Amino acid sequence: MNSTAPKHINLHTFAVADGQLVLGNMPLSRLAQRVGHTPFYAYDRQALTQRMQQLRQAMPADLKIHYAMKANPMPAVVQHMATLVDGFDLASAEEMKVALDTPMPAEHISFAGPGKRPLELSQAIAASVTLNIESAHELETIVKQCECLGLNAKVAVRINPAFELKASGMKMGGGAKQFGIDEEQVPDILKRINVLGLDFQGFHIYSGSQNLKADSIMEAQQKSLQLAVQLAEYCPSPIRKLNIGGGFGIPYFPGDTPLAIEQVGEALASAMALTRQSLPEADVIIELGRYLVGEAGIYVTRIIDKKISRGQTFLIVDGGLHHHLAASGNFGQVIRKNYPIAIGNKMHGEALETVNIVGPLCTPLDILADKMTLPKAEIGDLVAVYQSGAYGYTASPTKFLSQPDAREVLV
Ligand SMILES: *Cc1c(COP(=O)(O)O)cnc(C)c1O
Repeated sequence: MNSTAPKHINLHTFAVADGQLVLGNMPLSRLAQRVGHTPFYAYDRQALTQRMQQLRQAMPADLKIHYAMKANPMPAVVQHMATLVDGFDLASAEEMKVALDTPMPAEHISFAGPGKRPLELSQAIAASVTLNIESAHELETIVKQCECLGLNAKVAVRINPAFELKASGMKMGGGAKQFGIDEEQVPDILKRINVLGLDFQGFHIYSGSQNLKADSIMEAQQKSLQLAVQLAEYCPSPIRKLNIGGGFGIPYFPGDTPLAIEQVGEALASAMALTRQSLPEADVIIELGRYLVGEAGIYVTRIIDKKISRGQTFLIVDGGLHHHLAASGNFGQVIRKNYPIAIGNKMHGEALETVNIVGPLCTPLDILADKMTLPKAEIGDLVAVYQSGAYGYTASPTKFLSQPDAREVLV
């Protein structure tokens, strides 16, 4: 790699040629001409494919890998993911529409989320998508919708486990949570599912996100499998689907180290072998969003002004937090850190300059880089923000300050 690309993360994902970042065999400035508009997100098809191949190699052969669509629901990306993964996990009826437009069979699609509306439930039942039940009330709503439709529903119980995923960026299990049904209440829910005669599929146990520690992921996976084994005696029928969540993180900041997936895969293989003795009919599933797509995308924005204020250089770009909230540091970060960034058309720039890169919004929060040393850049150059394939565009307040939209392309 060249000297100015960020070093703390694996950026071999993208090649550099003639000083330009290359995506989809195209130098970035040519890609910008092709798109005809900045800012834009570009996602790399080949990077998605390679990522999935590497993951498959590290994971047990009989593990099912699902894509959690909310990480990046762009229809073209989801279409491509449909050729790579074993299923989709979705969180809204709109995501369900995108998923069902792909060749992915409905039997490999599940729907989770704490506030599913009656119409969403009804659409999912009609589609034969598995509903992950998150409350006693939701269960009763599902039954009502089934009666209206004259159909039965495929259901799984989302469990809020008593344990937590340690060192996770965002905890989504353990303690009091809006997600899932507390472990202690699950036997009663299972009895009710039995009485109602719903088509029971299994369990969903999701405990967190953005975790780079193999040990804590391994522990959560083992505990999740054990929990399912313990609860199996209350199930109305054998467990067929056992979704143990994901939480695999990617490195963003200096000091972050990539997750050791080989270690996770080995431990999971032993844990699955043990589980199979008690639950021979269960397909074990992990569901990943960020890990599958996060590194395969960049956000590209053009420098529209350059100025100096009291000794500091500011590059003002045509995009910012309204397209990429996470890179501005306002999406869950406690202390703001710079995402890895490059001047995408000056990868080998000799002269370096320490700059602040800011967006066009009238708020000091609209910042993409705080005192980063990058090749000297000028008005018209292209700023590329790495690690932008997940929780980028759709996780941003795109209406804020009524700025133009960004484009999204899959190359
Ligand atoms: C958000 C979410 C995921 C994906 O999380 P990542 O950290 O992107 O892998 C998976 N499952 C559920 C239920 C989710 O809500």
